[in-house]
Amino acid sequence: MGETANRSEYWLFCSFTYSPLYIHRLQKLHYATNNHHKSSTPMSTFEFATATRIIFGAGTLTQLGPLAAAFGSTALLVTGRTPQRREKVAQQIGSHDIRSHNFVVTNEPTIDVVEAGANQARQLGCDVVISVGGGSAIDAGKAVAALATNPGRPLDYLEVIGAGKPLVADPLPFIAIPTTAGTGTEVTKNAVLASTAHAVKVSLRDNRMLPNIALIDPELTYDMPPAITATTGMDALTQVLEPYVSHLATPITDGFCREGLRRAARSLCTVFHNGDDAAAREDMALCSLFGGLALANAKLGAVHGIAGPLGGMFPAPHGAVCGKLLPAATAINIAALHSREPENPALARYTKVARILTGDPNAQAKDAVTWLDALGEELALPGLGTYGIGKSDFANLIAKSSRSSSMKGNPIVLMDEEILEIVRRSL
Ligand SMILES: [Zn+2]
Repeated sequence: MGETANRSEYWLFCSFTYSPLYIHRLQKLHYATNNHHKSSTPMSTFEFATATRIIFGAGTLTQLGPLAAAFGSTALLVTGRTPQRREKVAQQIGSHDIRSHNFVVTNEPTIDVVEAGANQARQLGCDVVISVGGGSAIDAGKAVAALATNPGRPLDYLEVIGAGKPLVADPLPFIAIPTTAGTGTEVTKNAVLASTAHAVKVSLRDNRMLPNIALIDPELTYDMPPAITATTGMDALTQVLEPYVSHLATPITDGFCREGLRRAARSLCTVFHNGDDAAAREDMALCSLFGGLALANAKLGAVHGIAGPLGGMFPAPHGAVCGKLLPAATAINIAALHSREPENPALARYTKVARILTGDPNAQAKDAVTWLDALGEELALPGLGTYGIGKSDFANLIAKSSRSSSMKGNPIVLMDEEILEIVRRSL
């Protein structure tokens, strides 16, 4: 540890200013929970960034009118395929004298789609962008809000396939309203966009893209069909598990992860079988939110490291892919840690995960794998082979996975054969 060890401090990063503004020095950290260090060792400094305001609760959609009116009188309303939802939201903002223009996103957003949305927002003089929908609608709106105020083309700002420049201007104010419980993208600073030309998904990422308001009303998730409930729920569960064992975990993200794991463990099956269970829907909406808060600040791991590139190569639903990869990735990570880094504190974290998931205070790390396998069976998650993934794709998928940004959060560096084994076991 360097000198910073004794000066460890909590800082909150506020997203509503032009540049990072560190406002709160909350407390000295006395104990580390970072995976690289023993529990009594102080850890280095960290940062926590999220949406400016998070509003959560059944029925909170009724607050949208006054919230949006504070930003101006013209809104671009970005929605998915469900027109009834658009009407419901348009009604809320219309009753507060806000003119709204529709922008419909039918699939995962592409670079061309968000560029068209940004042009529309500029031409119509929109003061605010409001996204209502699943991860695709929210990511699309987030990117549209950013590109509407910034010059040039999307590729100027995109990672990996573009120039990756930082934004020059603040995005339009952005309100994110999720209607699924999975991605947590209402509290993250990136938008995942597909490039059809490159057959990859890449992120548009900037601290200023954190939404101004994340409004999470679990009632909006009540009509999700069981299959979507299952796959989005598996994404939520994965997104509280991976940041918990990530070597970038922090005391703030740890709390969210443990609570998210607890809620998903008790409610994911319930909500799959009974979508009207309001308490279980609330649990999953919270798990999703906590996953977003955690992953944006502690990264993910091997599951998302593989699921990201795989989603760019095959038209497979993200949550279904994550859910299928999760048991094998957990098993391989635990085995790799045992064989190469038996002192790595991530092993104790896997044990904690197993105890939360199973409810058994004596459970061991490997019991998490058994529990996750059984959950996948219960939710009838299809194997990855269903999406057309076969042997001839392995080399390309592994090369892309090992370089992906999510893989950097994994508790141990996996060898190519280990990544291959995760994929093979998930077919
Ligand atoms: Zn995910």
